[in-house]
Amino acid sequence: MDLDTYRIAPDQPVHLADLDPDAPAGIDKDDALDQVADATDQLSELQERLYAEGRHKVLVVLQAIDTGGKDGAIRKVFGPLNPQGVRIASFKAPTGPELAHDYLWRIHRETPGTGEIVVFNRSHYEDVLVVRVHGLVPEERWRARYRHLVEFERMLAEEGTTIVKCFLHISRDEQRERLQARVDDPTKRWKFNPGDLEERARWDDYVAAFDEMLSRTSTAYAPWYVVPANRKWFRDLVISRLLVETLRNLDPRFPEADPSIVTTQIA
Ligand code: AMP
Ligand code: MG
Repeated sequence: MDLDTYRIAPDQPVHLADLDPDAPAGIDKDDALDQVADATDQLSELQERLYAEGRHKVLVVLQAIDTGGKDGAIRKVFGPLNPQGVRIASFKAPTGPELAHDYLWRIHRETPGTGEIVVFNRSHYEDVLVVRVHGLVPEERWRARYRHLVEFERMLAEEGTTIVKCFLHISRDEQRERLQARVDDPTKRWKFNPGDLEERARWDDYVAAFDEMLSRTSTAYAPWYVVPANRKWFRDLVISRLLVETLRNLDPRFPEADPSIVTTQIA
């Protein structure tokens, strides 16, 4: 699998409507599930080194339309990792002190420290998505944010954070099925929120906001990947492979032991 296929180049025009949300033909689900298991094993090992080395900081941003599969991807790809060293930060509608500050205030305090992998379940990008679609601030304010977002991430990257951003891409039909399943299945009903239907009615507005976000904020130091997410197993395969590749490039190593420790005999 060539992960570059899914990467958005800086300033590349993006039309989600032209990108395939389905798994490529010829990939077998059972094979893919085996490959996800292999990739998460590799990821576990790399993560242990990253944590032991305590040098790198890794930020994974997950964005998607409602029901896009952020929660499932977090469970499947990051669930098998050692919870020491992995943190999930979920961003809901801002409240209280969050609203009293600039929109990046609550984001910055959740960014990873050394040795850590942090997954953003929604992120600073909501401030050019839901905020735009619902007109929560005037257009000139959310437009200025494209500039803030790339500069904020540039600062993080220059100060040593590795950033990978995944947009989980599903079709409108797939969303209908997933919402219907939330209504029909008593074990999924807790996830259903009647507000989801109002959001679904704004599908085209969201897609326009996603298209512009992807094209304006994909950079060499913090690229966006559009992950085909109609099939959960393919989504998990792409994300887990992407993380393996990212961590391999960092080449984390267990720290060298002090030579005197190596010969210590425990009484
Ligand atoms: P969920 O991810 O289903 O728990 O929903 C979280 C909700 O918080 C979604 O409806 C988001 O659109 C909303 N949300 C997240 N960030 C913001 C933001 N910056 N401004 C307004 N709403 C937000
Ligand atoms: Mg929701």
